[in-house]
Amino acid sequence: MIEVRDLIHRYGEERAVDGVSLEVADGECLLLAGANGSGKTTLVRHFNGLLEPDEGSVLVDGRPVAEDAVRARTRVGMTFQDPRDSFVSATVGADVAFGPENLGLTRTEIDRRVRESLSAVNLDGREEARIDALSGGEQARVAVAGALAMEPDHLVLDEPFAGLDWPSRRSVVERLRRLHADGTGFVVVTHDLRDLGWADRVVVMRDGRIAATGAPPEIEERLPDLGVRPPGWNEGEGSTGVGREDAAAR
Ligand code: ADP
Repeated sequence: MIEVRDLIHRYGEERAVDGVSLEVADGECLLLAGANGSGKTTLVRHFNGLLEPDEGSVLVDGRPVAEDAVRARTRVGMTFQDPRDSFVSATVGADVAFGPENLGLTRTEIDRRVRESLSAVNLDGREEARIDALSGGEQARVAVAGALAMEPDHLVLDEPFAGLDWPSRRSVVERLRRLHADGTGFVVVTHDLRDLGWADRVVVMRDGRIAATGAPPEIEERLPDLGVRPPGWNEGEGSTGVGREDAAAR
């Protein structure tokens, strides 16, 4: 479990996170929405110690992240807005193996995790592929696989759909949905909630604070006022696989 208590984070005089308290249960899929600059990225970077609180605290499984960021990072995996920022190797397999290698696991265990993580994102057997030759959607899935290979309790994905075309987005969403059904917890930072009505909860930030929270259907009508695009929760389901926007553009 992730517990955020009265968190304040400042950049200079500005309070990017201004008194946030939030709990994320194991296995929960939480969407963190809100307009650009509302403090989402700053908030989630406290979950694994990439940033430290100016005031308040963040606990993972009851222990303050500030006391043991290494432990927090094994519990809370994170991918960044641009997946290319997370890659450390030229090929898919080497990249996904990098985290587990740093945990000092056996080769057999590392290989198992790489295989299963790639399979979870539908990239089975692509170990030897060069990352720079992959599509944007495939790169996003490699980044998710790299985080999954750490077998964290929570996976934080910061704008995982940015820059993806609709089919790639659909493919990533579908994978997340299945992983969630299998018990992985997610915090997905996104200002675009299309196709994500299956999530457990939405938390909307505004000006560094939590402005609204609720299950997807409960919160929908409040979203436009909070700078979040109305979702069409299950837009991509069904036979067409085409979002409202794409359909309108035809
Ligand atoms: P979001 O993820 O919702 O777009 P951010 O957490 O990135 O919001 O930003 C919140 C606020 O903090 C914004 O006003 C942004 O300009 C500011 N900010 C973010 N990162 C930095 C930084 N490294 N230095 C100074 N200001 C920052």
